Amino acid sequence: MIHKTFTTYTPFETAEIGRMLALSFKRGAGGKTSAAVVCLYGDLGAGKTTFTQGFAKGLGIKDRLLSPTFIIVRRYTTKRNSLLYHIDLYRLSSVDDINALGFSEMVTDPEAFIIIEWAERLGRLLPANRTDIRFSTLPDDSHRIQIDGAL
Ligand code: ADP
Ligand code: MG
Repeated sequence: MIHKTFTTYTPFETAEIGRMLALSFKRGAGGKTSAAVVCLYGDLGAGKTTFTQGFAKGLGIKDRLLSPTFIIVRRYTTKRNSLLYHIDLYRLSSVDDINALGFSEMVTDPEAFIIIEWAERLGRLLPANRTDIRFSTLPDDSHRIQIDGAL
């Protein structure tokens, strides 16, 4: 279990926390029965995509990570040949769309990573075994990142 709060002052620092979190996931060691699910919460501009860029970097993904806002999900291959699904539910109109994306199949891949912006929109589809990360912008323009996870 991990419970940690960070305060960052630049986007780079936020991405670095994402990168370190990715490095702390031990995949491919056996015993996993489902994907590593990282749920991101917080207002627009709070730092979810910036964090995800660092997370992807930590997995050895060299592609530029774009915000998937219009297409909801983007898939990347990590340097260990596992998959990273980056999902952004900001424009989700119904939970049925999630099923159409094949979300349940993604979750059953024990090698996969799934990182989800606006994860609260999953409602009852939120897997119990997940890491939650809450983002907020403070009055002094620093950003707070609170991690509560299953790792
Ligand atoms: P979200 O995905 O939550 O909507 P983004 O990561 O796309 O947020 O945007 C965060 C914005 O805030 C970016 O424009 C980024 O440059 C800016 N920013 C300023 N300081 C920080 C910080 N400490 N951490 C993250 N983003 C920051
Ligand atoms: Mg975003």
